[in-house]
Amino acid sequence: MYVYQKNVSPLNAMVFVLMTVLLAGCGSGGNSIIGGEKSGGKPHFKAKHEPWRSKAETACLQSGVGRGSPWIATRSALGGPSVCGAIRPFKVSALSSGSVRLSPPATLRCPMIPAVNRWMNDVVQPAARRHFGVVVTDVKVAASYGCRPRNNKPGGKLSEHGFANAIDISTFTFADGRKTSVDQWRRGPKHARAFLREVHKRSCKIFTTVLGPNADKYHYDHFHFDLARHGKRGTYHYCR
Ligand SMILES: [Zn+2]
Repeated sequence: MYVYQKNVSPLNAMVFVLMTVLLAGCGSGGNSIIGGEKSGGKPHFKAKHEPWRSKAETACLQSGVGRGSPWIATRSALGGPSVCGAIRPFKVSALSSGSVRLSPPATLRCPMIPAVNRWMNDVVQPAARRHFGVVVTDVKVAASYGCRPRNNKPGGKLSEHGFANAIDISTFTFADGRKTSVDQWRRGPKHARAFLREVHKRSCKIFTTVLGPNADKYHYDHFHFDLARHGKRGTYHYCR
């Protein structure tokens, strides 16, 4: 078992040992990681060792994703020592050969780059043409990389954002200057609501997790997309 924790006091060390025993006792010993700084007596987040993450990332890097693109820059390692981050994180400032700006640029691991581009070309732009008659030129990134538990709840499972394997999108800007934000899901004009619903629904073919305003109170103003593995085979798509 790996344990990452900062500022370990004797009391923290005792909690550590106890957690180790408890985790081993419930059958997850050997591959559990407790990460981050403690807050309120709990570890900041929990995470397991999942070999598929580095395998998928290495295969993606070997395929040449991100090479030679002026809109994709490599970043230095993220944080650490921690389970968070990626082998080689990228800073992505535009999609679709530079025609759609990501603002601010998103920090993503390799497999997210082709996924987000496919999402823009195959999901967002057809929906934009259908409901607005023009394409999207700018997308507001509400969040990308962040070493934190899901929904910022201390002690929770490490968010896919911690692996740079997720992106939150809040606003779309169209070629004619109009804008639509996810918080218009319920109260926006009819064509904006139809656009947002179509994007949400069709995103599910590309990402394995899609969360929108119907998911919970945390997603009232943005879509969350990630490439987590759900289910025994890792192929289940969780879309709410
Ligand atoms: Zn998110």
